[in-house]
Amino acid sequence: MKAFEATKQFFTSAADKLQLDESMRILLLTPKREVQVQVPVEMDDGQLVTLIGYRVQHDNARGPFKGGLRYHPDVDLDEVRSLASLMTWKTAVVNIPYGGAKGGIAVDPRQRTRRELERITRTFIDQIHDIIGPDKDIPAPDMGTNSDVMAWIMSQYSKYHGFSPGVVTSKPVEHFGIPGREEATGREVGILTMKLIGRLGRRPKETRIAIQGFGNVGLHAAKLLAESDFKVVAISDLTGAYYSPNGLDIGNAIRHTLANQGTLAGYTGGDRITNEQLLSLDVEVLIPAAIGGVIHAENVGQVKAPIIIEAANSPVRPEADAVLEERGTVVLPDILANAGGVTASYFEWVQNRQYYRWGLDRVRQELDAVLSRAFEDVWHESRQHDVSLRVGAFMLAIRRVCRATELEGY
Ligand code: NAD
Repeated sequence: MKAFEATKQFFTSAADKLQLDESMRILLLTPKREVQVQVPVEMDDGQLVTLIGYRVQHDNARGPFKGGLRYHPDVDLDEVRSLASLMTWKTAVVNIPYGGAKGGIAVDPRQRTRRELERITRTFIDQIHDIIGPDKDIPAPDMGTNSDVMAWIMSQYSKYHGFSPGVVTSKPVEHFGIPGREEATGREVGILTMKLIGRLGRRPKETRIAIQGFGNVGLHAAKLLAESDFKVVAISDLTGAYYSPNGLDIGNAIRHTLANQGTLAGYTGGDRITNEQLLSLDVEVLIPAAIGGVIHAENVGQVKAPIIIEAANSPVRPEADAVLEERGTVVLPDILANAGGVTASYFEWVQNRQYYRWGLDRVRQELDAVLSRAFEDVWHESRQHDVSLRVGAFMLAIRRVCRATELEGY
């Protein structure tokens, strides 16, 4: 199934419940603008390479387009389109004044030098600078891009339009970024997990958690949950998975990762298992925090956890989601679970526009408030309509985008 089809399927379940008419469905599913540009760049060896860059602006009824920029060899229009629409629903669920967008360049950043990546980024911005901007469309990092890339975007855009820190978010903290952005997604995954566990009447000490992916999101989620008395029994990354039924020492795992180029390779704090085995562990909570599509029709039968927190984007495929729903598994959907990142980005943009800086405590406090409110809204929606949290989240988001579209006029 193509990525866009998967998002459309979740959208359709919620639209059916809302009895949304066909013309509004088509309007909401159709991106406002899709741009594909040529990115010709001279590489360090003098060779001219022509890359393809994309920006899909899905919807801006609730505010400027907002979404990440991905550098990966598999980037194509279908994937970018799907991720752009997910951003529309994500910003609507947490009720921040943004729409949804996504961009990408089909390039493998690991094969390119830093100077090449800078030239690629600046050339891409040369091609799209007139369609982005602090009031139009605000990119952010995604797979393969980071705060350095964001600083280059700000610099290149500012050459055309004057000093514009608000054109892009997740910039380096010392260069118009904010403290707390890096931890935001993982930390809020932890906060939302605690809220859900509490609502389901479980106690942290008796809750075993397995987390797939120990990068930015997985690490910060593991840290907060371990500090809050949960038993994190398994973690993993590309090098493999590590399991201890009595709980891992997460502080130790973080120190190992920091000293080991960001990977768990060689970690001895738990038994080695595979990433596939991690997904089928006997735990109360499973947090896929690595890549999309890891729970699918073939392996969903082995997944035992009664609670799944979608920290990664689209980790559960629609056909697996149907099986989980039938089984009564509670899934906290990605559009809520990992929305801490875009919410922190929103706070960065607000501060850039005010030329003002908040401290870390204020960032955390405001983040917790926005995400907690969104959790309550989604919980209430799903109970009121007797639907899953995913369908509830999509219903809430679609209703908000529909209302803004109607108020704005066509
Ligand atoms: P990251 O690159 O920092 O970390 C990814 C982790 O997953 C690494 O530990 C990597 O080794 C591991 N991994 C990759 N492929 C794997 C595989 N096949 N099996 C097991 N582990 C694998 O990325 P991140 O920023 O932590 O993002 C993780 C996910 O969360 C992605 O799906 C991303 O789109 C989503 N997300 C991230 C943010 C954010 O703010 N960083 C916001 C929203 C959504």
